[in-house]
Amino acid sequence: MSRLDAITRIESFIISIPRETPYLGPLRPGERINERGYIIRKGNRAIYPSADMTILIKITAESGRVGWGECYGIVAPEATKAIIDEVLAPVMIGRDPGEPVVLHEDLYDLMRVRGFFGGYYVDALGGVDIAVWDLFGKCVGRPLASLLGGAREPHLKAYVSGLPKATLKERCDLAVEWVAKGFAGVKFAAAVSDEGIVEEMAALREAIGPKVDLMVDLHWKFTAGEAIRLIRRLEAHNLYFAEAPCEPEDIDGQALVARGVGCPVALGEEWRTAFEYRPRFERRCMSIVQPEMGHTGVTEFLHIGRMAHAFHADVIPHAAIGIGVFQAASLHAAGALKRVPYHEYQHSIFDKNLRYVTGDMACANGRFSLPSGPGLGVEPHPDVFKFVRAA
Ligand code: MG
Repeated sequence: MSRLDAITRIESFIISIPRETPYLGPLRPGERINERGYIIRKGNRAIYPSADMTILIKITAESGRVGWGECYGIVAPEATKAIIDEVLAPVMIGRDPGEPVVLHEDLYDLMRVRGFFGGYYVDALGGVDIAVWDLFGKCVGRPLASLLGGAREPHLKAYVSGLPKATLKERCDLAVEWVAKGFAGVKFAAAVSDEGIVEEMAALREAIGPKVDLMVDLHWKFTAGEAIRLIRRLEAHNLYFAEAPCEPEDIDGQALVARGVGCPVALGEEWRTAFEYRPRFERRCMSIVQPEMGHTGVTEFLHIGRMAHAFHADVIPHAAIGIGVFQAASLHAAGALKRVPYHEYQHSIFDKNLRYVTGDMACANGRFSLPSGPGLGVEPHPDVFKFVRAA
């Protein structure tokens, strides 16, 4: 079979774009930006960057065509960059972008027997996988969704994620603003519900009325028993889904919560491969999965999405911090799946960083438009490279 092209060069760039209000909202008492630029959120004990940090990957082919990828890089991105530059890039030279799945399997195999089948290693794989698929699309002149089997619709419904304001009153006002702009779903972050989670749910429901889908991210904070008691109280206000109720490792707890509550449980933003999803599907831990393209890449995202279908679960993709390259891949891949009621819309990231990608990707009137054009349909704008962080 004739080759489409050959990969000749792989480059990676750490991007760090300053932001005025940190992700998840203003700093609260006892929270500070440390000397390396990170914040520990007291609500969920997790570390976040104060800037928008991400990793871009550029693959150049013999023909001169270029494919772009992006992967999760919000904390210590130098680790992921080292994997791309040291391990993956040299192995990819000379390979055909027309066989992205074969290449992904080969790269995954390089380190699996040493136990590297998650975390930073798979983030790196995900980023280069997106770039290879983009290059494939450009070689054949087709959008990514078409290569993945086709999109039913050129749009995906978007839910508004997070209300990054300091007070409950301000968060309610912000939710009302988004609903007025045509969005049918809003999710609040329990990690910053200082006035109380049930109180926040009740106030938001009161503010936005009965018809809007209201979701909560519980940020892995609770034991199964605590989560069941809490979610039942939230259900009184018509909760659409409860996200991440228990600690990430607690498979038994996840299964107990899913059986113990009436609304769907949504899980999965922290898992990277179908191997991590499978035991949770088998235990029926969730009826909505939230794969994150910045962790999975296209090949594994589709693997997870098809597996979700086999277990009759919906897919509502997660949207991490990035400039929009992996977001475009996520829209294409989600568009190629059948049961995707929503895609997460991180307005405080997507809108701010949209200027750093070219193309017609957009989110307005409650829905995302899939980018048109070959491959991803977006490329990093030259302006973004002024935010490259030196290694
Ligand atoms: Mg979440």
